[in-house]
Amino acid sequence: MHELSIATAIIERAGELARADGAEAVSAVTVRVGELAGVVPDALDFAFEVARDGTALAGARLVVERIPAQAWCGPCAEEFAVGTPPFFWCPRCDHPSTDLRSGRELEITGIEPSPAPA
Ligand SMILES: [Zn+2]
Repeated sequence: MHELSIATAIIERAGELARADGAEAVSAVTVRVGELAGVVPDALDFAFEVARDGTALAGARLVVERIPAQAWCGPCAEEFAVGTPPFFWCPRCDHPSTDLRSGRELEITGIEPSPAPA
């Protein structure tokens, strides 16, 4: 399962960040997941619950921030939602645009350290 390797990477990275901060454990980790990042949020939740056992994140919550996929339309000087699967065609002026401005994010945006493993 694809999400399991992502969850494992998130857990390892969050654990490293917590240790760099002098914390033993993490109580919550926030990740930003773009609509086009290829991650199914429910599957990621499930994978996180499986992968966190026995790590510094054993008692941690996973908070997922979903980022909608938006492309930029030059003629309109506005963003438009491309949806999934993406359709790079401005709904307002009918021009194509492949200038994707958001939607591919897959990043940790915050961790909540806790002093001891939960
Ligand atoms: Zn347009």
